[in-house]
Amino acid sequence: MIHELIVYVKRIKEQGLRIVSEVDPGILDLEYGEFRLIEPVSLNMVASLVTKEIILQGEIRTAYQTVCSRCLEKVSGAIHIQDLILVYENTGQDMIDISPEIRDEVILAFPTKVVCDENCQGLCPGCRVNLNQDSCRCPEKPLNNPFSNL
Ligand SMILES: [Zn+2]
Ligand SMILES: [Zn+2]
Repeated sequence: MIHELIVYVKRIKEQGLRIVSEVDPGILDLEYGEFRLIEPVSLNMVASLVTKEIILQGEIRTAYQTVCSRCLEKVSGAIHIQDLILVYENTGQDMIDISPEIRDEVILAFPTKVVCDENCQGLCPGCRVNLNQDSCRCPEKPLNNPFSNL
């Protein structure tokens, strides 16, 4: 596993440069609340020089963990970005740090709403019981005292 996402421009030959790496997900700094990457970010790309541009094409895979938006139990899933294309201006630089763009692509691929199961019953809004595991413990008639559940 590597800890940087650097493309060395001089290594890109006429036939292109294949980049196959497993990158430490920590360098992308992608932790939002309960959301985090739990597997290396796996890159399989080809870098090529085209006139004034450096073009990277390929795919990225990783996996995330978050919580179910209904019941708050942990859920994990795969992220697979296919047909990714990144274009950089070739200014004669020795290297390109592609981590900002890879980070953006992974963010775009995040699922917006994750549920543990399509049929997840979620938490009871009254007693907060996980309705997948237990039955509601709310009193049959709601009490009038707004502080009764403190
Ligand atoms: Zn759930
Ligand atoms: Zn309840």
